[in-house]
Amino acid sequence: MDLRFPYSPAEVAKVSVVQFGILSPDEIRQMSVVHIEHSETTERGKPKPGGLSDPRMGTIDRKMKCETCMANMAECPGHFGHLELAKPMFHIGFMKTVLSILRCVCFNCSKILADEEEPKFKQAMRIKNPKNRLKKILDACKNKSKCEGGDEIDVQGQDSDEPVKKSRGGCGAQQPKISIDGMKMVAEYKLHKKKNDDQEQLPEPVERKQLLTAEKVLSILKRISDEDCQLLGLNPKYARPDWMILQVLPIPPPPVRPSVMMDTSSRSEDDLTHQLAMIIRHNENLKRQERNGAPAHIISEFAQLLQFHIATYFDNELPGQSPGTVSSLIATLINTICS
Ligand SMILES: [Zn+2]
Ligand SMILES: [Zn+2]
Repeated sequence: MDLRFPYSPAEVAKVSVVQFGILSPDEIRQMSVVHIEHSETTERGKPKPGGLSDPRMGTIDRKMKCETCMANMAECPGHFGHLELAKPMFHIGFMKTVLSILRCVCFNCSKILADEEEPKFKQAMRIKNPKNRLKKILDACKNKSKCEGGDEIDVQGQDSDEPVKKSRGGCGAQQPKISIDGMKMVAEYKLHKKKNDDQEQLPEPVERKQLLTAEKVLSILKRISDEDCQLLGLNPKYARPDWMILQVLPIPPPPVRPSVMMDTSSRSEDDLTHQLAMIIRHNENLKRQERNGAPAHIISEFAQLLQFHIATYFDNELPGQSPGTVSSLIATLINTICS
């Protein structure tokens, strides 16, 4: 008998719809069987509860049963756990989309920057394909340096040719230029001169160039209204923009990252398990720094370390990251040796 595919008495069901979306932090928590808190896999020879081999996530041991579904190694599919992140982190796969969305909305009040009455915006609204619509809205928003609204704008009246004054309802805030720098986001304010010579002044404590943390980005994305999400090409029911920022990390079960038996007493862990252990350790370090009230620049450095490990966990060949850093290190070494 083939134990890999045991007989199932379940009725065959037809798939009627496949809906893609982004997992919200709550969905990740709901589908999780265990809150992972420890980077260790075992403790005194046994799987450590709350560790990366917690038996509730499934079993990779022929002699043990899964503590969630009670099935054996061949039948249990494995169950996800989750890690609560000390701070929100960028998801490296969503950086570019997040950047596009940020460039479309106000940095302060999260309203779409373009005015509904503008021809460019009206044109964008006619596009059915959500991805192309986002592109067009981005086009209509990219030159806005201010969230208009304080000043009235002219729009054509409905039943007369007289222009009617109408306010867009924006907050009037000046908009920074936002860009991606490796795994970071940067917001830069421009001081631009007006024709009549008086310089536009920024509210004093604002630095011209500032690091845009995932935390700040999350707060901007959270304030985008469901209506505006729809306009930007995102269905808020399945893909709110704030879900593109990681707050909770799903932990894949051991069956997808099985350890290998080296001899009767020792096991060698999978690369993914090692990387996850690093993430958990750096997450703990960051939490500790925050608890101890460390200064902001220290916390920022610990957060960037965690960000680095999360990004390389998703993709270990990120441009300009670890492999690049190593090769540039080697290049420096060769230069030192040869000179
Ligand atoms: Zn199971
Ligand atoms: Zn605004």
